[in-house]
Amino acid sequence: MLHDRVIIAGAGPVGSITALALSQQGIPVTQFDTERETPTAHRAATTHSSTLDLLDSIGMTPAVLAQGLKAQFFQYRYRETNEVFAEFDFARLAGETNHPYAVQLEQHKTVAIAQDMLRAFPDFVLHREHRVTAVDNSTDQVRVVTETPDGTQRDWTGRYVIGCDGGRSTVRKSQGIEFPGFTWEERFMIVATLFDFEKADNYRYRNYIADPEQWCSVFKIPGPDGAGMWRNLFPVTDDAPEEVVTSDDWIRARYDYCFPYARSTAIVHRNLYTVHQRVASSFRKGRVMLAGDSAHINNPLGGMGMNSGIADGLNLAEKIGKVWRGEADESIFDRYDRQRRPLAQKYVQAQSIQNKETLQAKDKSAAHARFEELRRTAEDPAKHKAFLMNSSLISMAREAAAIA
Ligand SMILES: Cc1cc2nc3c(=O)[nH]c(=O)nc-3n(C[C@H](O)[C@H](O)[C@H](O)COP(=O)(O)OP(=O)(O)OC[C@H]3O[C@@H](n4cnc5c(N)ncnc54)[C@H](O)[C@@H]3O)c2cc1C
Repeated sequence: MLHDRVIIAGAGPVGSITALALSQQGIPVTQFDTERETPTAHRAATTHSSTLDLLDSIGMTPAVLAQGLKAQFFQYRYRETNEVFAEFDFARLAGETNHPYAVQLEQHKTVAIAQDMLRAFPDFVLHREHRVTAVDNSTDQVRVVTETPDGTQRDWTGRYVIGCDGGRSTVRKSQGIEFPGFTWEERFMIVATLFDFEKADNYRYRNYIADPEQWCSVFKIPGPDGAGMWRNLFPVTDDAPEEVVTSDDWIRARYDYCFPYARSTAIVHRNLYTVHQRVASSFRKGRVMLAGDSAHINNPLGGMGMNSGIADGLNLAEKIGKVWRGEADESIFDRYDRQRRPLAQKYVQAQSIQNKETLQAKDKSAAHARFEELRRTAEDPAKHKAFLMNSSLISMAREAAAIA
């Protein structure tokens, strides 16, 4: 049966926000997700100024602000001396954005806000526990096959398919789109605790701690009850098995090294990740488009994966709207690729790699040179602002808008 609708694989932040932007333009959307519920594993929390501006255009920002924590500052420290060698203040972005701050909100809550808003649209349907297993893009419709946990397969058709199905995207693979890049040797360990780093040592809500052996980060998030919770990220440089790395002993050894005063804190969550830097060789093939992690993945330092993915989704939703209303032809989807793919390399990949290199610099003099450079950047008003324009992805958004 022909459905003149957009099919979205994946109901993570990018799929859900894209679905909302399409629905608000009167476009019917069918969305599939493998999972019964949105996973609550600790992943994205930082929503940048550029994203808050975008989310305002679809009415989501008030709820994000109501549930999230405003993070006006972020800090870089040197572990050995605990010196704050650079601090950045998003207030310097006043006049460039309506939201001169970042907001800390767990990504599953952002998904819930979008999905709650989607309930108002009768032409939107989300099928949970439906894994997209195949996509046929060879005719003037796209055909998608889904499978439910009992093995039932079902066919669906639509005008376009958007792959928002994460880094291992079935949609991307189904189209033979390459995903070149690399995987970092070390894994990343994320730990959540109730220890109050602000009270203990004046941490901001977003902090990076540089060290040649054991860099780490400290972030505050609202937590399940909104009362506040802290996250630490540590690199795992050995190849110890997961049960060792996720043990209390291993984690407490990291606290001993980085934050000895917090070593006896209760660990409320732990998760081990393999980290990649990859960008798909194309974000579009015929009627199939990719957005979010299915199109690009990067390390979490700088908090850019979800933010750039949301910008992909909203860019694409606007273009699909134009084609749907007859205001543009489908060649506009090539512009989506031109606007988003090269800039994912230029901004998201480059900055996330550079952030990691700054934190982990091994050679002492090279490390100090990097810290000094960052200190000078923070101290110089023009450089300070330029740094924030890049790290909040405002520059990326403006450069994308200028691409024909
Ligand atoms: C520790 C950590 C911290 C991070 N912090 C930040 C941050 O602060 N800021 C930031 O911007 N980014 C951050 N990121 C990155 C961010 O989590 C991702 O970029 C974001 O989740 C991408 O969203 P997405 O919707 O594209 O993909 P996902 O969130 O991966 O969602 C994909 C969805 O597709 C579903 N799915 C998968 N396969 C199928 C299929 N075959 N059929 C149907 N459904 C399918 C999945 O169940 C899932 O719901 C962080 C990541 C990590 C690991």
